[in-house]
Amino acid sequence: MTFPRPAHAGASLTIDLDAIGRNWKYLRDQIADAAAECAAVVKADAYGLGAERVAPALADAGCRHFFVAHLDEAIRLRQWLPSSLHNIYVLHGVPPGCAADFVEHRLLPVLNSLPQVDDFAKHAAKLGRTLSAILQVDTGMSRLGLSRQEVGTLAGAPWRLAGLNLRYLMSHLACAEQHDNSANEAQRRLFDQLRATLPVAPASLANSSGIFLGRNFHYQLARPGAALHGVNPVPGRENPMRPVIRLQARVIQTRCIEAGDGVGYSHTWRATRPTRIATLAVGYADGFLRSLSNRALARFAGVELPLVGNVSMDTTTVDASGLPEGALPPGSAVDLIDPRHPLDAIAERAGTIGYEILTSLGRRYARHYVGAASAAEEPDAAPNRRAPFTNLTGEPA
Ligand SMILES: *Cc1c(COP(=O)(O)O)cnc(C)c1O
Repeated sequence: MTFPRPAHAGASLTIDLDAIGRNWKYLRDQIADAAAECAAVVKADAYGLGAERVAPALADAGCRHFFVAHLDEAIRLRQWLPSSLHNIYVLHGVPPGCAADFVEHRLLPVLNSLPQVDDFAKHAAKLGRTLSAILQVDTGMSRLGLSRQEVGTLAGAPWRLAGLNLRYLMSHLACAEQHDNSANEAQRRLFDQLRATLPVAPASLANSSGIFLGRNFHYQLARPGAALHGVNPVPGRENPMRPVIRLQARVIQTRCIEAGDGVGYSHTWRATRPTRIATLAVGYADGFLRSLSNRALARFAGVELPLVGNVSMDTTTVDASGLPEGALPPGSAVDLIDPRHPLDAIAERAGTIGYEILTSLGRRYARHYVGAASAAEEPDAAPNRRAPFTNLTGEPA
């Protein structure tokens, strides 16, 4: 994957691999049962942050189980995690006619329906060997997995699993980020009921937020994704995760406008006094969502620069009147997301969730990966530890 050179890009995305490794260890340590493991969900190119870099950093931290959504994502991920120590699971299961690809690339499907079970079992029989897979049952998400009825059918015909080694029985929580939602416990109970009718296998239920619902939800494998990438798994409470990204955009030009002048498409903002406007090289085509228009704040040298006017495709305008004249020359790097002004806050202002901000970020940013994930055990002691975030010029911020 190639990204623009810093000098050629309008904006930059800094990704702290050390923070991702530490977030994984933190979640692993939340899982009370020593026999339980912590996986990493790295679908959608590791939530937009680059699976090619993120997954090896997680492997260095000790992760052995990786989930992606599509078969294509899994085949790519296998290049970056060649060791057979690393299990790669495909959440969407086996696309019709693609069972052989799972064997060739050493991938494990999550089987989500009886036809998927039958097809994969048939492939195992054809090869005359046992194939490993996860079996997903639906306990209330109504999205993927065997229905209660299908589980009943399978329980009455367990021979349909012949040739399959069930690594895990899994299900997925719909409301885990709502700690007090009774749907969580209802799903957990139904999961236990359904498991009791099926062949014994280790179990997996919790996503990031599910880990924080307590040890009853941990089972033998947790599957966090968002929290590894810095999203708060416990909304409404302080984020226990380390921030992972910093987003900065360059100033293209500044101008002074008069009282009464409108800014941007449809003039959704109008100056009430003389105002200095700075135009930043980031827009909704970069995942800097249009719903942030007139709602978010940028920052430079500790000064808040409110977004004014509609976010355009490639540009965003901010009110820079709080800075002295000449303080924001072209090329200056303005902060949009940084550790003190996190992802979740900007997501809330945009009327969405951190997941959507991350996965929308796009390909036009110069990307800086920082932090040696392999040194994550004692990074504070490492003499050559790099500053976790650098600005657009590569200087420490
Ligand atoms: C995406 C996904 C996860 C990870 O969820 P997060 O909320 O990002 O932790 C876990 N399991 C399944 C089935 C998923 O689709």
